[in-house]
Amino acid sequence: QRLTRADLDALPNYVPGRSPADLARELGLPEAIKLASNEVPYGPLPGVVEAVTEAVTGAHRYPDMGVVALRDALAQRYGVAPDRIATGCGSVALCEHLVRATCLPGDEVLYSWRSFEAYPIIAATSGATSVRVPNDAGHGHDLDAMAAAVTDRTRIVLVCNPNNPTGTSLRRAQLDRFLDAVGEDVLVVLDEAYREFVTDADVPDGIETYADRPNVVVLRTLSKAWGLAGLRIGFLVGQPAVAAAVRKVVTPFSTSLVAQAAALAALGQEDEVRRRCALVVAERERVTEAVRKLVPDVPNSQANFVWLPLHDRAAAFGAACEARGVIVRPFPGDGVRVTIGTPAENDAFLAAAESAL
Ligand code: PMP
Repeated sequence: QRLTRADLDALPNYVPGRSPADLARELGLPEAIKLASNEVPYGPLPGVVEAVTEAVTGAHRYPDMGVVALRDALAQRYGVAPDRIATGCGSVALCEHLVRATCLPGDEVLYSWRSFEAYPIIAATSGATSVRVPNDAGHGHDLDAMAAAVTDRTRIVLVCNPNNPTGTSLRRAQLDRFLDAVGEDVLVVLDEAYREFVTDADVPDGIETYADRPNVVVLRTLSKAWGLAGLRIGFLVGQPAVAAAVRKVVTPFSTSLVAQAAALAALGQEDEVRRRCALVVAERERVTEAVRKLVPDVPNSQANFVWLPLHDRAAAFGAACEARGVIVRPFPGDGVRVTIGTPAENDAFLAAAESAL
């Protein structure tokens, strides 16, 4: 007897990638290299382990559901009022909450494709209808086509900048025009999970540039540059009414005690975050240049990964890298996303890529 929804069968699983320990065992290697989830390779920031250790002494109590101390710290850091911030169990959860807070069954969630693989899953499981606009020839969002795809059922538009998995980014003039064209009746989410790796001055910081627009929400995560992927914490900046609506639909207490403590400690380490991001960016440029000798049409990336548009060869390339102990993220039929790791990890990837192609 079937107890769950039949339509779930048609949905892809989120991140079906394999574990490095598993692969290392299979290959008989001391360890495998994971360049598959866009993490930063340098370990938790200084002070985070201590803050977490201290926090767990209070583990028998629920965390502060209002997340007051952390929201205050974020508000100060990003120059907005605390009532404009909501936190969640990763920004992926906040994205889901935003869709739940805006869409009734049959309402439309609009996004570019290919983009973050959670978007279609979130739309489908929320009972909303996905409307996908194909990426442009440069693997980025076609904002004019997206604006033209808005209908009177569109409740929310997800704009991923820089875009996962292609690394492409949208410039200020493009976003200005898009936001003006869409108007203010549709919520526009700027998903800026990779913002800290952006070096192009024409790619706007959504919080500084657009968060005062009534219908814009900016999503950020502490999983990437801030090194807290395993503790699950993200936040959004939007208008107070939107942030309040999200806080209403959020799973109670889903910003854990440990996540709150770790995020507070991490926010105090901004200089170190900048230093780490600069290392990642330098390696991104080196890897991009090297890999273009094998795959000439790799787009410029403003994130901590690069995109190899290998089309039919994507799955085989991913398998060939794995056979050499390097886990990357193939999207069969489309391309392969490779996270920037340490210089040694990147060298291992480049060697694997060279022999794979
Ligand atoms: N948005 C984008 C574009 C992402 O790539 C990711 C993670 N891969 C997320 C959101 C979610 O990150 P998290 O839930 O860890 O905050």
